[in-house]
Amino acid sequence: SPLIEFRGVTKSFGGTAALSDVDLAVEAGEVFAVIGHSGAGKSTLVRLVNALEKVTSGSLLVDGVDITTLPERRLREVRLGIGMVFQQFNLFRSRTVFANVAYPLKVAGWAKADRAERVTELLNFVGLVDKAWQYPDQLSGGQKQRVGIARALATNPRILLADEATSALDPETTGEVLRLLKRVNTEFGVTIVVITHEMEVVREIADRVAVLEGGRVVEVGPLHEVFADP
Ligand code: ADP
Ligand code: ADP
Repeated sequence: SPLIEFRGVTKSFGGTAALSDVDLAVEAGEVFAVIGHSGAGKSTLVRLVNALEKVTSGSLLVDGVDITTLPERRLREVRLGIGMVFQQFNLFRSRTVFANVAYPLKVAGWAKADRAERVTELLNFVGLVDKAWQYPDQLSGGQKQRVGIARALATNPRILLADEATSALDPETTGEVLRLLKRVNTEFGVTIVVITHEMEVVREIADRVAVLEGGRVVEVGPLHEVFADP
């Protein structure tokens, strides 16, 4: 069964439907892109998966569990299995690279020695071991996002949600970050949902893509079908 499944999901804010009757299934192991213009409903979709918002109607299954009916205590467990990467990186400016990556491990109660070992492993993976003692402001945008990816992976999530993760980066750096995300997918088997308004991003790494327009899924399928030349 799919790792993430939207079944007839509608999300309204007052009179505005941010998402209308959305059906979507993301399979374990794929890179799934959601593309759409500003206001299409992309962020709402991410916030529902991460249980930061509740559906108005319909159901949303993560790993076979309907999260729309789970109590807050269980939602915390669901969130632990989901890593997030953000457009503006969302790093703690007053903390070192090391401490930023260690943060989710601290929250999860890892012992100090285990945290240090895991952080070193993650910084090796993203190629930033030599930056461990620097602060975010001393890094380039691409380096900051690599820290963001390391932090998102810290607790070994099965799902990584990348919300406009490359939108603040120049094209060359975007390519680097996308190649890193692809490695996260192939080397660790992490299922990745990429939210973007950038077509190049989709072309570079997505296996399948859904196109959102006005809160509705207007197309979904393998990249070559959805974006086949006419
Ligand atoms: P996108 O991420 O594709 O730009 P959003 O999911 O942010 O789209 O927004 C989809 C629609 O829902 C927009 O019309 C937006 O104004 C509306 N919306 C999103 N969040 C809220 C909110 N918290 N309150 C009211 N309206 C919202
Ligand atoms: P916080 O104030 O949130 O604990 P710190 O910047 O003090 O953040 O760093 C987190 C902890 O991890 C600190 O206790 C620090 O000594 C430890 N630490 C950081 N980097 C390393 C490292 N490379 N090897 C071992 N321990 C480290």
